[in-house]
Amino acid sequence: MPINLGDSPAEQTWRKQVREFIEQEAPAELRSAGGGEGGLFGRLGAVKQWRDKVAAKGWIAPSWPTKYGGAEMSVVEQFIMNEEFAEAGVPANVGGFGVMMIGPTLIEHGTEEQKEEHLGRILRGEVIWCQGYSEPGAGSDLAALQTRAVRDGDDYVLNGQKIWTTGAQFSDWMYMLARTDPEAPKHRGITYLLVDMKSPGVTVQPLTTMANQQTFNEVFFEDVRVPVKNRVGEENRGWYIGTTTLDFERSSIGSAIGVRKALEGLMRRAKEGEDASFDRASVRHEFVERWIEAEVAKMLSYRVISMQAAGKIPNYEASMCKLFTSDLQQNIANLSMHLYGMHGNKINRSSMGYMQAVSATIAGGTTEVQKNIMATRGLGLPRG
Ligand SMILES: Cc1cc2nc3c(=O)[nH]c(=O)nc-3n(C[C@H](O)[C@H](O)[C@H](O)COP(=O)(O)OP(=O)(O)OC[C@H]3O[C@@H](n4cnc5c(N)ncnc54)[C@H](O)[C@@H]3O)c2cc1C
Repeated sequence: MPINLGDSPAEQTWRKQVREFIEQEAPAELRSAGGGEGGLFGRLGAVKQWRDKVAAKGWIAPSWPTKYGGAEMSVVEQFIMNEEFAEAGVPANVGGFGVMMIGPTLIEHGTEEQKEEHLGRILRGEVIWCQGYSEPGAGSDLAALQTRAVRDGDDYVLNGQKIWTTGAQFSDWMYMLARTDPEAPKHRGITYLLVDMKSPGVTVQPLTTMANQQTFNEVFFEDVRVPVKNRVGEENRGWYIGTTTLDFERSSIGSAIGVRKALEGLMRRAKEGEDASFDRASVRHEFVERWIEAEVAKMLSYRVISMQAAGKIPNYEASMCKLFTSDLQQNIANLSMHLYGMHGNKINRSSMGYMQAVSATIAGGTTEVQKNIMATRGLGLPRG
């Protein structure tokens, strides 16, 4: 019996509603970009315009409860919305780290005062948040982090350094992890704090990537005072709250549809363009291989979504999806380089996309870390 992966009548209605919204409100500048090609740099004005439309529609925080101003969509509704956004080439998750990560974390673990102070401002797009987790000596092994927070009266005093902090140079607030008990086992001496980026002693140093973009930063803390009221959860219990935040990150990473759109864009150009090498058999075969992989990526993401919709927590399944989709992103960027080479920079910024794609297999958990998860939790192999 064939498996029906199509929409139910209710899902069809919802998909139509989303399409109509995109049709009416999405800036032409974003849609004509073809989805996923060349990134959104240079179109930030249109992205903001789109963000405001999504917010006005009440869809900016799809997963938040209506009680807190969210849309309280089901997992499948969110997936359909993201699918349609990707299909149209307009960005999803326009609420950034605020909506995706710290908002849901505060809803689950924050005090009433913290919810009152932050949630409304996040929904209205008045504040930008960044994530202060990674440090020079703590990435995959995040619990090795060394930034110190020492209690002093009604404040913690922060000293140390974060790295790879996306958007810190534009951010008003940072949610971060700091070590409060250096004697305790490493997962048990960490506290979750909210830091006002304008506090004296915070220095942000942008890092330039090999694609010549300043997307992430080093952030230094020198005797930065953080009021105790900005602690989320109990002292030394921050690891468990921090991993809740990461679960929100992992469930949103890896858009199979976005990847397929990038492939379609390349194919369209290759068919139409005079300068592409579409007539070479090797290139045609490469397209076919990438197309099959894009279909597999879609099936893997359907699996994750259907588990979530059934109330299960995807584990190695999410790792499989992330690994496969991020590898595919890089393979498509390679294909673009095979087609256009350096000349591509003039046509569709392909060498820029090639350099940007490197980070796909690092951000949100590296490929090796995903493989470790799959080996132990998926295949039941012993830990090394
Ligand atoms: C685009 C981008 C944006 C980012 N944004 C943020 C941000 O906003 N905030 C933030 O806090 N961090 C951010 N990061 C950092 C990211 O979380 C880390 O880069 C990631 O966790 C890997 O850590 P690391 O760079 O320290 O590498 P390491 O952990 O030092 O890894 C180095 C190499 O060793 C391998 N390795 C490590 N451990 C194992 C193991 N147990 N088994 C096998 N191999 C292993 C890794 O796979 C990798 O190849 C961002 C990273 C990127 C690329």
